[in-house]
Amino acid sequence: MAKPLTDHERRKQISVRGLAGVENVADLKTNFNRHLHFTLVKDRNVATKRDYYFALANTVRDHLVGRWIRTQQHYYDKDPKRVYYLSLEFYMGRTLQNTMVNLGLENACDEAIYQLGLDMEELQDIEEDAGLGNGGLGRLAACFLDSMASLGLAAYGYGIRYEFGIFNQKIVNGWQVEEADDWLRYGNPWEKARPEYMRPVHFYGRVEHTPEGVKWVDTQVVLALPYDTPVPGYRNNIVNTMRLWSAKAPCEFNLKDFNIGGYIQAVLDRNLAENISRVLYPNDNFFEGKELRLKQEYFVVAATLQDIIRRFKASKFGSTEFVRLDLAKMPDKVAIQLNDTHPALAIPELMRILVDIEKLDWEKAWDIVTRTCAYTNHTVLPEALERWPVDLFQNLLPRHLEIIYEINRRHLEVKRESKRILMRLLQFKDFYEMDPEKFQNKTNGITPRRWLVMCNPGLAEVIAERIGEDYIRDLDQLKKLLDFVDDNAFIRDVAKIKQENKLKLAAHLEEHYKVKINANSMFDVQVKRIHEYKRQLLNCLHIITLYNRIKNEPNKSWTPRTIMIGGKAAPGYHTAKMIIKLITSIGDIVNNDPVVGDRLKVIFLENYKVTLAEKVIPAADLSEQISTAGTEASGTGNMKFMLNGALTIGTMDGANVEMAEEAGEENLFIFGMRVEDVEALDRKGYDAASYYNRIPELKQAMDQISGGFFSPDQPGLFKDLVNMLMHHDRFKVFADYEDYIKCQEKVDALYKDPKEWTKKVIHNIAGCGKFSSDRTISQYAREIWGMEPSLEKIAAPDDPR
Ligand SMILES: *Cc1c(COP(=O)(O)O)cnc(C)c1O
Repeated sequence: MAKPLTDHERRKQISVRGLAGVENVADLKTNFNRHLHFTLVKDRNVATKRDYYFALANTVRDHLVGRWIRTQQHYYDKDPKRVYYLSLEFYMGRTLQNTMVNLGLENACDEAIYQLGLDMEELQDIEEDAGLGNGGLGRLAACFLDSMASLGLAAYGYGIRYEFGIFNQKIVNGWQVEEADDWLRYGNPWEKARPEYMRPVHFYGRVEHTPEGVKWVDTQVVLALPYDTPVPGYRNNIVNTMRLWSAKAPCEFNLKDFNIGGYIQAVLDRNLAENISRVLYPNDNFFEGKELRLKQEYFVVAATLQDIIRRFKASKFGSTEFVRLDLAKMPDKVAIQLNDTHPALAIPELMRILVDIEKLDWEKAWDIVTRTCAYTNHTVLPEALERWPVDLFQNLLPRHLEIIYEINRRHLEVKRESKRILMRLLQFKDFYEMDPEKFQNKTNGITPRRWLVMCNPGLAEVIAERIGEDYIRDLDQLKKLLDFVDDNAFIRDVAKIKQENKLKLAAHLEEHYKVKINANSMFDVQVKRIHEYKRQLLNCLHIITLYNRIKNEPNKSWTPRTIMIGGKAAPGYHTAKMIIKLITSIGDIVNNDPVVGDRLKVIFLENYKVTLAEKVIPAADLSEQISTAGTEASGTGNMKFMLNGALTIGTMDGANVEMAEEAGEENLFIFGMRVEDVEALDRKGYDAASYYNRIPELKQAMDQISGGFFSPDQPGLFKDLVNMLMHHDRFKVFADYEDYIKCQEKVDALYKDPKEWTKKVIHNIAGCGKFSSDRTISQYAREIWGMEPSLEKIAAPDDPR
């Protein structure tokens, strides 16, 4: 009998991981050893695993450098229109494997590391996530960077280099505990500081209206120090730049006192200025009106706009003697995309630069601003909308407040002239009626490089065996898989890959959680930020219902499930933290009940982040996307699961609607109220008690939560949650309970028929084309930015030898 393949041998057989030419491997080994010696200053007797990771990261990074310099030179020579993606969040995750994938170096590096007697996955696991984001919005920015580079767009991501990203979540006695994310502690091999491009950013002060124009004076200055990170496109030799700003106090900061005590204090006070880039605000879909946050928002905008204008003026176009340098040409050469309102100060700041500094008249400036900037709205939740207290704003950015008032005054005037209505604050609807063409919808997407090739090479490969590898840059080609829906060999391959992924995750979970996992059970997964609108509580009610049913009829042939829930709660969000405690408490009861055995397990996945998503999603059978209809603007987690061969149980909310359209509604498990039903229920009045009284299993589950069944030591522990669900549940959990449970019964039934299950999986994968962020970015490029995406390669430089 043939020996089973080792991980290394198996990976070697996967062609999407690139060719491992003999010379390539030899060069990689040489360069690895050179970095270990010259960069890490270690020999193999004393080198640690981390040294080996850094040696490998530097070796791979060397392959980026020539491409990076060449790409930027190419942009300077060709002077295409530039697009700037401004975001307070870039949720990048790890960089090493993504770089190897996009450069086609994965198999070669794997072989080199193997020949050096080291373990690739072990080294990769040493890399910290760049967790500079909260959830979907920040991860979208990261996927967009990958797609913009892969489509050859001259694009730049601009944001903040937070010293501490999203906190690390520890679960202690079932509760969330936050730990600082000191991600830079061992250094970041992917960034390059550029102190020569440092820029001043002004705060506070006052406004003087003089005959020569408006002056913003007596300000306090903080310096913005840029750090550049390369963003490689997929096998096209393009390397774009993500530039993140770090706050630095000027040398002369606070140095007006000359006595020694004043001097020491002044040096200590430099921290106050440098706190601006200290930490990411950990709220997802929630606005917190803190001054430090407003400083962060202005800091990134002010530094970035100086950079954009400097680059425009220094461009061939801007500086050629034939075309007079003319800021009026900026909209032809520059597009600025604002990721939600977080960087929306770009609008008044660009007005300030054009009017106060460049001395353009208001109308001309406004024309440039409106043709250069575009903004994306990501949520409909009112608590997420930014509404700054006027006095805070006035104090920090007095000139910008004046400009905003002036913008508003002129809008009202236009509106009055055209419609003759009373003065009031303009609403969304008024703007839409004035300029409907300025409102567009762009369906979000995910990059198939990270979310398939990188995290699920087995699936990427069995797909490539059927339809070739081009689908990786043209995801619509996945629809060719419809020819294989009834192909037994393909069905077998897809099911086999899923099983392998599940076994691997099961091993990880058993080691980490000390729970025996049944890898033949359905892996039912809900991973996303913990939020009432995402309704992890509905999932909890299903778990309790399943548990009660198993206890009532222990001998029935229940479809075994391993239910995993993961996600962070904002540190100040009490209800979300109680939801985590409820999940872990349910797990404690269910997982230790001998009657249940391995037919139902509940695991709270600690510290959900990009890297954990990459491990969990390829192993999922069922994806839970169960938000109240009308609350999730899009969701992108839903798309990652679909691409990785999980079936979705979901409401008709956000992008689930389009997923059902693309894969066929019969291939998803859709349940619950539609948006119209929710609105109708709102008009009628949602009465939670009526469901509780009418549905015995719901009543039983709620009575168990409120009676202390899951918290025997503290029977009243969940009274706030119970009170919320019974009396002020904005998200109407009970109204969807019955249909959700029925739908889960259909899921159970189909899971008993693996072949039919996998056919639906294939329909889903085949319907994924639309959800590539390449499609999203192509639409942004053509319909908003006035740019043309391209799959052309540029010339490759010589790789390091
Ligand atoms: C994709 C992703 C999200 C967004 O998930 P949703 O289910 O769309 O909310 C959040 N966090 C991480 C780590 C992700 O990768």
